[in-house]
Amino acid sequence: MPTDTIVIHWFRRDLRLEDNHALYEALKSGKKVLPVFIFDSDILRKLSEKSDARVTFIYQQLQRLQKELLSLGSGLYVVHDTPDSAFKKLLKEFNVAAVYTNHDYEPYAIQRDSDIEILLEKENVNFLTFKDQVIFEKAEVVKDDGKPYTVFTPYSRKWLARFDKEGIPDYPSEKFQANFHHWKSKEIPSLASMGFTLSDIKLPSAIVRDNLISNYDEQRNYPAIDGTSRLGVHLRFGTISIRKQVRKAKQLNAVWLSELIWREFYMMILWHFPHVVDSAFKPIYNNIEWRNKEAEFEKWKSGQTGYPIVDAGMRELAATGYMHNRVRMIVASFLTKHLLIDWRWGEAWFAEKLLDFELASNNGGWQWAAGSGCDAAPYFRIFNPYEQTKKFDADMKYIRKWVPEFEDFSYPKPIVDHKDARERCLRVYSKALKPA
Ligand code: FAD
Repeated sequence: MPTDTIVIHWFRRDLRLEDNHALYEALKSGKKVLPVFIFDSDILRKLSEKSDARVTFIYQQLQRLQKELLSLGSGLYVVHDTPDSAFKKLLKEFNVAAVYTNHDYEPYAIQRDSDIEILLEKENVNFLTFKDQVIFEKAEVVKDDGKPYTVFTPYSRKWLARFDKEGIPDYPSEKFQANFHHWKSKEIPSLASMGFTLSDIKLPSAIVRDNLISNYDEQRNYPAIDGTSRLGVHLRFGTISIRKQVRKAKQLNAVWLSELIWREFYMMILWHFPHVVDSAFKPIYNNIEWRNKEAEFEKWKSGQTGYPIVDAGMRELAATGYMHNRVRMIVASFLTKHLLIDWRWGEAWFAEKLLDFELASNNGGWQWAAGSGCDAAPYFRIFNPYEQTKKFDADMKYIRKWVPEFEDFSYPKPIVDHKDARERCLRVYSKALKPA
């Protein structure tokens, strides 16, 4: 075994060298830092699409990190393995004093980290974890009685009050780059060796014009306008720091800041109420008798419902891995209310397709649309796709882009009549929600 004692920084959802909390602590620990990334074979195995754009995104970000680290005389240690097996090998190869990493709040990650902590403990290696991907986590923003908020507005008020009082801490990891371990790193495993191919989906830039953020509140609802940041995937994988974005939001636009707070709200909900992963936040909504017609679900997925705004959204998703927020709300409402298909089916489809897929926000968004969520739209609020089009895509620019044939004979007739579907939804929901 090599004699130099080192510490590990385990990258997961924090793929950057700057302003990275755990990395900062590791670099300041007095020991040299070995940067590690594990392509978790347990996670990758579950991805059905071989050209999954998220895997390509991670791969490209690792190549960028590798370049930066090689120029510092260090290099990434990247393996395709289970975390358990990867750490067993790491402990044999290096003399490790501690593993540093940033918190992850998803149920799978919590279990994984607890298993790794036990494994490391047996070898007398410390497992040190830090808050990085949010401003406030877990129970940091709760009601005065210590209970978690389940409604957004009071949560965001308390969040802002605490934020104004405490400000944002600095973790300038970039200032300590001399402390990376110098070693001869190996090649990053190729996508092909892991069973993947390069995606041809265009990956969004991490740079957003200040002007776009300043105008966000006026433009964000119109899907034909390039009026939102497209930073979702960068926040998901931590290629940008949330602290930097929040500073910017505070300066430029309160509505954009509020979206970043929604992100933390849903992460807080998932952490306190992990049952939401496969069950309604409000249990009575588990009584809904979904129709779950497979053929209708297929039409929804492929953008062939005969509702142009719905089809435009679903086709945008398939082609780009992205869908505008306004349209996400419309297609989710349509699936759950017009077609009475279980929100979990739609959630799973989004999870497969969205580049910015985030368990907490996706689950929150779907349960909001279905009415079963914590701070959800009331069940009798059923989006009218035609009215939504009039309001948010009045000149049909967005629809024309994705469904150019919508006025042709070849375009399908509506899969359901809006008025009938609305009445059916109200009947089914009110039956399910009737007190016993
Ligand atoms: P912007 O509008 O520029 O907002 C900036 C960032 O704030 C986003 O990148 C995101 O991190 C966060 N944010 C914005 N709106 C929300 C919101 N309503 N809830 C939580 N966070 C928000 N967002 C995801 O990040 N991942 C998902 O898997 C996801 N699934 C959704 C599913 C449904 C059914 C719905 C209705 C919404 C979903 N959202 C999800 C929320 C929202 O639609 C996206 O965050 C947003 O459209 C991403 O575009 P943007 O990066 O340009 O965001």
